[in-house]
This record gives sequence, structure tokens and C-alpha cells, in this order.
Amino acid sequence: MSAARSKGAALDRFRLLAAVLVVCIHTSPLSSIGGGWDFWLTRVLARAAVPFFLMVSGYFLARSEWKSTGRFLKKTALTYLAGVALYLPLNLYNGGYGPLEWVRKLLAEGTLYHLWYFPAVILGVFIARGLSRLGQPAALAIAALLYLIGLGGDSYYGLASSLPGPAAFYQAVFVLFGYTRNGLFFAPLFLLLGAAGKRWSQAVSLTGTALLLAAMTAEGFLLRALDWQRHDSMYLTLPLCMIFLFSLLLGQNSGEDKRARRLSLLIYLLHPWSIVLVRGGAKAVGLGALLVEKSVVHFFAVLGLTLALALALDALRPIRPSPAARAWKEIDLEALKHNAEVLRSRLAPGCKLMAVVKADGYGHGAAAVARRLQKDGADAFAVACLPEGIALRRAGIRGLILILGYTPAEEAPLLRRWRLTQAVADEDHGAALNAAGVPLHVHLAIDTGMRRLGVPAEDTAALARLCGMKNLRVDGVFSHLCVSDAPEPSAKDYTQGQLARFYRAVDWLRENGYDPGGVHIQASGGILGLSPQPCAYARAGIALYGVGSEGAADSVEAGLRPVLSLRARVACVRRLRAGEAAGYGLAFQARRDTRLAVASIGYADGLPRELAQRGGRVLIRGQSCPMVGRMCMDQLFVDVTDAPDVRTGDMVTLIGQDGGLTIRAEEVSRRCGTITNELLSRLGRRIGQVVR
Ligand SMILES: *Cc1c(COP(=O)(O)O)cnc(C)c1O
Repeated sequence: MSAARSKGAALDRFRLLAAVLVVCIHTSPLSSIGGGWDFWLTRVLARAAVPFFLMVSGYFLARSEWKSTGRFLKKTALTYLAGVALYLPLNLYNGGYGPLEWVRKLLAEGTLYHLWYFPAVILGVFIARGLSRLGQPAALAIAALLYLIGLGGDSYYGLASSLPGPAAFYQAVFVLFGYTRNGLFFAPLFLLLGAAGKRWSQAVSLTGTALLLAAMTAEGFLLRALDWQRHDSMYLTLPLCMIFLFSLLLGQNSGEDKRARRLSLLIYLLHPWSIVLVRGGAKAVGLGALLVEKSVVHFFAVLGLTLALALALDALRPIRPSPAARAWKEIDLEALKHNAEVLRSRLAPGCKLMAVVKADGYGHGAAAVARRLQKDGADAFAVACLPEGIALRRAGIRGLILILGYTPAEEAPLLRRWRLTQAVADEDHGAALNAAGVPLHVHLAIDTGMRRLGVPAEDTAALARLCGMKNLRVDGVFSHLCVSDAPEPSAKDYTQGQLARFYRAVDWLRENGYDPGGVHIQASGGILGLSPQPCAYARAGIALYGVGSEGAADSVEAGLRPVLSLRARVACVRRLRAGEAAGYGLAFQARRDTRLAVASIGYADGLPRELAQRGGRVLIRGQSCPMVGRMCMDQLFVDVTDAPDVRTGDMVTLIGQDGGLTIRAEEVSRRCGTITNELLSRLGRRIGQVVR
């Protein structure tokens, strides 16, 4: 599989070549052979390297619709800082810079000769991103104009500087930037050309690349003969040549080669140190005549050392097992966002969605779920216990976090430190929290008929006493419905009774001068089953995850989409003859010649053990196959006799979609006599998680 993925990863492989070309620029391998040859290799051909890096960045940024720009800039800035730190000893050895010069070097020019790329790409991405909002033609036209201006300060400086206006302009530019490739003239065009990702046929691309390379050669030698070049990074023909070269590579590109990507970056970052080390080492052992003066040998010595350093560093990289290697859940955050929007549309104006992310977000990963919802504007969350609340704060969640379950009064200091809001279970609980002597934010639970937590709704005296407690700041009052999702008329009556008792208690508080704060009573069943309620919040748990507790009908009808899929792999496939048996207790008896697949997931991953005997099934290669035998702790058996294509390594879907078929969590939980809430929240910790 990994071979298939890396096959033809032309863009990533070309990065390696481009990095080697950059090493050429800084070592001049052909200089002892002839000045002309060296000029052609390092000042013409190798000038394709950096534009290529810029184009790849632009290409991938545009493919994410520039959504990954923030991440890209952060990563680039961190790499740059690492590079700056790496070369600090050389800077200091060379005498360093004055404070202002440090700032200028850092922001505009790079602190060593090869580091110019990083500030250039960072500034370039800002500009290219901004320009791209104007639409591609306008963006490219402006970037091309900038490039033309840049040319005058680079290869065409001899011409430009002979005219008084431009001469003054470029002098001003050079106060800040050493070369015009540093600033806004160079990077934006190549980033945007990469973003455009123009593709022609391979024949056209190849011919275009060859012709333009020849043209670039002619241009370079002409400018050299005219002695116009102040620097030689920018040619008129370079962008055109790059368009064809990139098209050629795109045509060959399928998949990615992350190692080539990492190594090319390391070669780029490390080679100046290799140059220093080779020169210093050669001098120390008296081999300067060979290792430094023979330019080809020098180049290979530098390249060899750089490669060795790069490979060594790359080997030190921490490697983690792939989350999708054995058994994993896939979390579709777009579906989550969609569900939140659907649920919000069912609330009364001014009523906010409080996302219930207890039990690790019903097994979906509380941090990922809450972060995504917060990004879309959610600012109220509920959990079951103190550690869950703290974990959310640590994950960067702001706003209201309400702990719905019991927290003993000894933990009051932690509630305060993490700015968590505690539900008050009854009057005794409130009194104990109050006695802890720490001011706390609380929501009062009111029991309207579930008889779990809460002050009885009719006990207004207790509510008044709780509101009067010195250390309790009552920000909200809430209750929980216990039959809101049941269709029977008696259940509907019961729910109406609960609502009436709740609002009566709330009204009593208001009429008697107590502010109940934000009130809330609906959970998923109440949001889907009741008319919009005059509340400040509605607490959505299971519906947010796109499934119903017992049946799928209500969530499907509301347009909710399941967020979680559960997958595993085929560990092996074996043949059983009719009459043979398999598994613990030999519970599976083959009645016919059977192909038996072993799937890499079991009850220790949270699947109910009885599922296998209760008609459980899985999807493999888009086909539905029955579970058989007894489920093991880490494996289960699947009869794949009727799916003859099934092979080791195939993906097994236990919940979710594969091809045209879907297994819903409701189906799995119903078979085992439970509800989706239990099934999902019990999915085991050792299952990998892939967030999309
Ligand atoms: C778990 C819980 C919820 C969320 O319930 P769903 O039915 O999953 O939406 C809401 N309120 C309280 C008090 C809860 O304990």
C-alpha cells in the first residue's frame, strides 16, 4: 500500500533534485572545469529550484482553498527560527550584526545566505493570498507586474540603473532588501503560478520546458555578456519555463513521498554547515587541494556530508503508529458542524446550543469536538465531571463549561481555578459547596419528575435558600426530561407536566426577586420533539453526533448526519471445510466450505460481545458480511464466503458507510439491547482516531 502511495510522487521527488541544485548554487561544482559551464549550471539551470519550492507551496495551499495558510505559515516560521538558531554560531563567529540589522535580516533578508527563502515565502504567501481574492487573472497580472519590477533590480539592473527614476527607486528598495527576490517582487508570482496549477499534455510540457530552458540559457548568457546583472535570480523566461516544468511534474504526480519532502528541507537547511565543516576539515587534515579546490570533489563532499546529516536527523524523528493501522474511529467534523446548525435552527431566537461533550464527547473525542464547535461560535459546553471540565479548559475551550454531575465540595477550589460551573444536585450539595468558602458559579438542578438530581420543583423555599447562599452565584436553573423522546400520549403528558413544573418554579424565583439566570430543559429528545422553548440554552448530546438514542428515524428526518465511523482491518483470511469449527467454544460450525476473515477489533475495543451472536455484520469492500462465532477480546470472525475478493489488510466497517452500504450505530445498539449513547461512549481508549 505504501509502495502504491509513493509511486510517481513526482512533486515530492523533484524537491530532492531542487535541493541538490541549491547546493550547486552554493558550491559551484563546475567552476574548476570552466566559468561558462558553472554559470550555466548555477546561475541559469539551478535558478529553477526556489521557484519550484514556491510553486509547490502555492499549489497545495490553493488545493486547500488557502484554508491551511495559517498552519503553513506557522510551520514555515518555526522552521525558519530553527534555521536561525542553527546558524547563530556562524553569525557570531562572523562578528554578528547590530540590533537594527538583526531585525532587518530576520524580517527581510534571512540571517544567513540561504535563509532568505523563509521570510520571502512568508511575505509572499500573505501577498499571494490577498491577491488571490481578486480572482486568478487579476492576481496573476499584478504578481507578474511585481515580478517585472523586480527584474529591474536583479538581472536587468544594468539597464534599469541607467535610467534616473528607476535607479533611485531600486536604491530605496535595497535599503530594506538586499535583492529584489527578497521582498514582494519574486515569491508572489511563483506561489500564484503554483496555485493556478496549469496542466498541459506531457508532450507539450516537455517541449515547452526544453525550449524555455534554451531561451533562459540564451537570456542568461546575453545578460552576462552585457554585464547587466546585479544578481541572477530572475529572468524574463524563468516564470514561463517554470509553468511548463510544473505542468510536466503535475502530469507525473500521484500520491506523496513525505520522506523526500523532509529530506529536501533538511538538505536545504543543513548544507551551509556542511560547507563550513568540509572546508574546515579539509584544512585541518591538509586535503584542501583535493576537497576544496577540485570543485566537483568539493561538491560531492558537501552533498555527501549533508545527506548523511539529513538522514541521521530524519532517523531521530519520533515515529508513531498510524491511528488507522488496526482499529479506528473516523470523526467527520463537517457532519458535526452541520448537525449543530440543524439543531440551532430548531431553537427559539436567543436560545443557545449547549454542546454536551461528556464521556469524551460520547466517544467522539471531546477536545476535537468542542474545538470545532467553538471555532463555529459555540460558547457553552456541558460535561459530566470535574476532570472532563479541566480537560476541556486545557484543550483551549473558553466560555461556559457546566458540570452536570456531582462534584464533592472538597473540589471547590478546582472548580474556581478552572472557571467551571457546577450543577447543584440538591440543597445539601449546595450547602456543602457554599460551606467550602470559595465563590462558585452554579446552575441549580430542579427535579421535575425524573427523580435523579435536583431540588424538587415545588420546594421553592429550598430554591430561595440556595439562591441566598453567599458563595453560590446562580447563573442558571435547569431540569432534565426523562420521556421526551417517547411517542406514547402518556409520555407526552408527562413531559408537559415536567415543563409546567419547571416554568412554575422559574416564574416563582423571578416573582420573588431571585434571578434564575439562563434556564434550560431540553436535551436532544426535547430539541427534536418539542416546540422551541423560551430558554437560554438547549443541551444537545446524542443528536449533535447525528444519531438517535434508540432509532434513527428522528435524526434522519431532521437531516442529521452521523459523525462517527468505526473501522478495523482484515487480519487474515482462512478456509474451513464443511464440518470444521472455529473460535472459543468452537462456537462457529461451518455448514459449507467457508472463507473466514478475522477482523482486528474485539470487545476490549468497546463492541458488545454478544453482537456476533445477535446478527451483527460488517462491511468489507462494499459488501455486507455476517459476524460468526464468539467475539474475542481483540478479534472477531466474519464469514466472507460470499465476498470472494476479501483480502488481508482490507478495511472492515463496523459503523459507517462503505460503498453504497451503511451500518448505523442505532442498528448495532438495538441488536444488543442497548442505546447508541452506551455503545459510542464505551468505545475503547486503544482505538485510533482519525479526524476529518
Ligand atoms: C447527558 C445529558 C444531556 C444530553 O442528553 P442527550 O439526550 O444525549 O442530548 C443533557 N442533560 C443532562 C442533564 C444530561 O445528563
